[in-house]
Parts: sequence; C-alpha cells; structure tokens
Amino acid sequence: MGADPNTRVRELLDTYDRGDACAAELLCDRHPAEAVAFTVVESDLSSVDLTYGELRERSERYAAALAGLGIGPGDRVATLMAKSADLVAVLLAVWRRGAVHVPLFTAFAPPAIAFRLRAADTAVVIADPDQAGKLAPGGDMPADPPWRTVVTGQDDIAGAVRLADLPASDTGAPAVTVGGDGLLVQLFTSGTTGTPKGVPIPVRALASFHAYQEFALDVRPDDVFWNAADPGWAYGLYYAILGPLVSGTRSLLLHAGFSPELTWQVLDRFGVTNFAAAPTVYRALRGGSEGHSARLRRASSAGEPLTPDVVAWSAEALGVAVRDHYGQTEHGMVICNAWHDELNAIAPAGSMGRSLPGWACTVLADEADIEAPPGQLGRIAIDTRHSALLWFVGYLGDPERSAQRYTSDGRWYLTGDAGSRDSDGFFHFSARDDDVIIMAGYRIGPFEVESVLVLHSGVAEAAVVGLPDELRGEVLEAFVVLREGVTGTDTLAEELQTLVKKKFAAHAYPRRVHFVRDLPKTPSGKIQRFLLRDQGRTAAGQR
Ligand code: ATP
Ligand code: MG
Repeated sequence: MGADPNTRVRELLDTYDRGDACAAELLCDRHPAEAVAFTVVESDLSSVDLTYGELRERSERYAAALAGLGIGPGDRVATLMAKSADLVAVLLAVWRRGAVHVPLFTAFAPPAIAFRLRAADTAVVIADPDQAGKLAPGGDMPADPPWRTVVTGQDDIAGAVRLADLPASDTGAPAVTVGGDGLLVQLFTSGTTGTPKGVPIPVRALASFHAYQEFALDVRPDDVFWNAADPGWAYGLYYAILGPLVSGTRSLLLHAGFSPELTWQVLDRFGVTNFAAAPTVYRALRGGSEGHSARLRRASSAGEPLTPDVVAWSAEALGVAVRDHYGQTEHGMVICNAWHDELNAIAPAGSMGRSLPGWACTVLADEADIEAPPGQLGRIAIDTRHSALLWFVGYLGDPERSAQRYTSDGRWYLTGDAGSRDSDGFFHFSARDDDVIIMAGYRIGPFEVESVLVLHSGVAEAAVVGLPDELRGEVLEAFVVLREGVTGTDTLAEELQTLVKKKFAAHAYPRRVHFVRDLPKTPSGKIQRFLLRDQGRTAAGQR
C-alpha cells in the first residue's frame, strides 16, 4: 500500500472501474502463471497447490464448454459446489464468458435453491454429484426447468450432463470484457430478517474487495492467509475467493465442511498467520480448544457481533486478539478495526472500528435525516456522496425494498442497523433496527444482554428479544441454550436474571428465560430473532 490510503483507493478504482475491465483478466490472467492462487486442503490434511497457470488452462476449457451450451455475456450460471479447485476454475470460466455467477450454499435444501435459481433467472446450474439430487424434480423443483443441469465428477446423474463430457473445442476464445458496470455475481442476502434480497454485484466492486484485503485484513505476500467462510455467502465469496484472486496472494481453501477439530489442525499444520472467520467459528474453536493453540499475526471476524468473551479468549489462545469488522452483502466490509499499520488505531473496547478508506459511514438521528451527535444511538448509514468504493445499485427486481434503503433525498444509504459513533469516529453496533427493544422508553440492544448471559458457565448460547407488554411497551425474554450436562431450572433462570441486573442494568433483565435445545439460524449461522419473537408471542397467547 502506498503512503496515502486515498491514493491507493483511486489506484484500485482506476484498475477495476473502467469500461474495458475484464473479470477473467483481473482475477486470473494478469497474475504470473507459476504463482500459487490457492493451497487446496483436503479433510485428511493432504494438499495441492493450484497455480494461476493451471486455473487459466482449466477455466479456458470449462469456458469453451459453457460456450457450447450457449452461455455468453449476462447469462446466469449457478454453482452448487463445495470449496474446491474445480469451483474456482468454474467461476473463472463463467467470468471468462462474461456471464454472471449465482452462488448456492451446499447446506441449502431444495426450496432455498429453487428460490434463488428462479429469482436469478438461471440458465445453467453446475452441481457436485453429491448435491445434484437436490435439483431433481418434485417439491419446489420444476419437472421441466428453464435451466440446464451440469454435474462435476464422473458419475452419471439422471437429467444432467457431465461437465467433462461437454465439447470444448473453442478453448482459444478471448475472455469477454463486460466493463466495471458489467455484472459479476448475482448474490442474495442471508435472510436473517425475512426473505433474502437479490444483490447484483458489478465488476467494479472488486476495487472494494481488494481494498479490504489490504487495509483491514492486512494480507501480506508472506502470510499464510485463510478465510474459513463459505463462498455461498458474501463474506466467503468476497474475501475467501475474490479477495485473494484480485490481490494475487496465496490463500488456503479447505475442501471439507466445518469442524472445530479440523480447523485447529489446519491452523497448526499449514502455519496459518492470518485468519478470518465468523464469530460462531471462534466460539466453536474455543469450545474445542483443549490441547490446541495458535500463533497468528492477524485474526479478523465479521458477519455478527463479536462478543467480548471471544476477544478476551483469543489473545491467549490464538496469539492475537480477534478484531471486529462490519459489513453487508450490499457493500462488503465498510467499518473495521483495520489491521494495516497505517490505519491501526486503538479502538475503545467493544467498538467495531472506523470507516475504511473509500467509505464514509455515519450515524443518523432516529427522528430526522441528520447526523446524530457523538455517543447517541441512531441509524448506521453510508454517505453515498463521499464513498468512492460504493457499488450497490439496488435489489434485484425490488424497487420498493431498494427505496427503503435510502433517505428521501437519496443522500444516505440506511444499513438497517442501529448503533452509535464516538467523537473519534469509532462505531459501536447496537442491534438490527428490527431487533432493538424499546422498554419503558429505554432502547436496549439484545446483543449487550446476550453478552452478559454467555458469561455464565452453564450457558452455550443466548438470544434476547423484546415482546409486547401492556405496561412497558416491550419486555425482554431470553432464549438460552445450555452447555452439555447442565439442566434448566428455576434457580438457574433466577441466577441468569441476577447476572444481567448486576452486569448490565437493573431494569433490563429478561422477565422470562426459555431453555431451548437450539436457536433458529440461517444456514450461515445467524440467529433469526424474528422467529423467536413469533415463538414468544405464540407462547404468551397460550399462557
Ligand atoms: P437479510 O438482509 O436478508 O436480513 P443479513 O442482513 O443477515 O440478512 P448479510 O448481508 O449477510 O445479510 O449480513 C449483514 C448484516 O450482518 C449487517 O447488516 C449486520 O446486521 C450484521 N453484521 C455484520 N457484521 C457485523 C458486525 N461486525 N457486528 C454486528 N453485526 C454485524
Ligand atoms: Mg441485511
């Protein structure tokens, strides 16, 4: 990075936001053929290095196969594939054709897959053999789908053609140029607050992914970098696949599902120095940490609030305190406790950091579209006039929900999250707008109460929601998952209430504590509090 972050932002925009931008060139062909893009690690810890030269050769072959299926600029190609060398080659093939990638998470059930395939107007879906069964007709899958199904591997699957069998005669065709405004990916939000929203991602968004890789993650050429997130989601796609490919720095790709034990083994065996993962991953690592430790140079987390107990634990167990980064599918990361030396600043405890270079974030007052004074809780917003890296253009086919994201003058993008900013520009996350609890005039973020509940040795996880109350407007109720071997009793419920009164606030304790086996979550692991509110209302109705 140059001396001035803003100069670097302009350089990146010059590279990615131009009329002749070609995604396959930017993500693959411009890097030295012998450079390693990914070290692909298998569940038995064996590994292979995948070079840019190999990726180019393989993706040219697949691109020719896609051309044979009639895939060209703007066509949608979905993948239902595990994290693998083949996945990266397929993605590059899609972009080589100027086509648009539609990511599908391998943990999705058929309804979630059908919803995205339809909404994205998909022409071809490429699936791993063990996933192809989900595309079979029946239920939500049409008998005569508008998309073609292609499978990787050698198995014969009814209704599908094998990728390896597609004729690939025209391998010399040049990569298609779609320009900075051309579409790269058609992604969907996580669906934490309702139906997922379609977010079209233009090629120029690569500038912001590259910037995050340098400014916030501080990935250096000699790092062993690993972002454990799944590329079926924004965090994994942007920063485990696209970030490494734009910056040309080697990173790990684990061809296996998540387990804390395997994660510890990979960290150890491959000498990871720079690690990124969602808070749930860090919590799981802590749960299975007996006999393990790591010596990381950088550790970053995003996607959900990072609870202080994880930060405290990581300093010792990982060799470095995890830093919190905040973003959305709609923009990627925008507010971060950045790791780069020049941006590095001592953040107050619990802060998710400051606006990254290229982004101007603020907090708007609740009552009017003006900036809130320091420390006041309000709506976290992005200044569309002063955020050079901004690329979001609205939701796919949903002008109504797109319009809700902006103030009436169009100046501010509203993230839908509540928080505050101090006089030094550090942000504190409070809650999603929908999750803020207003009790007797007090605004309470569930996250602060949850952070206290998980301090109890018997508690594995907790979620707090507000439920209607005649007297106080809303009252708090807690849904608590206990650690193995712990039983939920009235005494324990009282203990938890007392803990919150002591460590948070006397008035904001949960009036009712529900002991539950698990919490409703999106496939990416985010707690869906709106479902708990429904559950709480139903239970109240029955009392
Ligand atoms: P949907 O928009 O469909 O309801 P979603 O908002 O969970 O789902 P994503 O775009 O994956 O979809 O997630 C972005 C949201 O995740 C943010 O708006 C914020 O609520 C939460 N988030 C992300 N990073 C952080 C963080 N570091 N701290 C607190 N919350 C975070
Ligand atoms: Mg959202």
